[in-house]
Amino acid sequence: MQTLRKPVIAGNWKMHKTIAGARELAEAVVRGFPEVSQATLILIPPFTAIQEVRKTISAAGVEVGAQNVFWEEKGAFTGEISPLQLKEAGCRFVVIGHSERRQHFGETDETVRKKTLAALGHDLYPIVCIGETLEERENNQTLARIRTQLEKSVFSLDESSFSRVVLAYEPIWAIGTGRNASPEQAQEVHSFIRSLVAGRYGKTVADCAIILYGGSVKPNNAFSLAREKDVDGFLVGGASLEAESFLAIAREALRAVRD
Ligand code: PEP
Repeated sequence: MQTLRKPVIAGNWKMHKTIAGARELAEAVVRGFPEVSQATLILIPPFTAIQEVRKTISAAGVEVGAQNVFWEEKGAFTGEISPLQLKEAGCRFVVIGHSERRQHFGETDETVRKKTLAALGHDLYPIVCIGETLEERENNQTLARIRTQLEKSVFSLDESSFSRVVLAYEPIWAIGTGRNASPEQAQEVHSFIRSLVAGRYGKTVADCAIILYGGSVKPNNAFSLAREKDVDGFLVGGASLEAESFLAIAREALRAVRD
C-alpha cells in the first residue's frame, strides 16, 4: 500500500440489522475508532438504518454510505431511492454495481454508469464495484472483464468527476465464500486497474485513485492483502457485521501501511 493513500475500510452490512441492531454496531465501532482513526471507516447499513447510524457516528468522524442508488432525483420509480434522498439522510458514499445487484437485480455496466453520474451530481462519493466470475478467471478473461467494466461504467467521466470515484475490485468467486484472492492475485488486478486509470486520466490521477479489495476479507488475511502496493483498503461484507472483526481489519490495514 502506498503511504500517500489513507486506508479506507468500508463495511457493507447488506440486508442485515434492524435499526436497534445497527445502532448497537455503530456504537461499538465508534468506541473502537480512536485506535484506528488514521483510517477512513465507512459504515454501509440498509436504507432503514442510515439515519440512525448517521446520528450515532456523526461526532466521531466515521462515515456512512448506502448500498444502492437510482439515477433519477424523483418520480414514479416505486421501490427506488434517489441520490437526493441519500444525501438528505446523511450519506457521503454509495456502493454502485455490487455483484449481488448485478446477479439478482439486473445491474449492468450501463446502469452503473448512470448511477455513478447521478451520485456524483449530488456530491456523493460512488464506490464502484467491478470483478470477474470464477469462470472468467479460469478462462484467463479476468483482465479483459475488468477493462470492459471500467470502460463502460466510469471511463466516460471527466477527470474531476473520476477523481471522486472509489473503485472496489471484488472477484465474485471470493464474495461471501471464505475464499479470498491471494495477495498476488489482488495486486495483479489492482495494478492493472491503476495502469488503465493512468492510461485514461494520467499518472497523477492514477496515483491518487483509491482501489479497495473486497472478497472474504478477515482479520487474519487483511495484513497480507493490505501490504500490496496497490491495495488501498477493503470493502468488507461478513466481517463488518461485528465491530471487533471490522476494527481488527482496520488495525491490520494500518499496520501494513506502517510496516
Ligand atoms: C461484499 O459484500 O462486498 C463482500 C466483500 O462480502 P464478504 O466480505 O462477505 O466476502
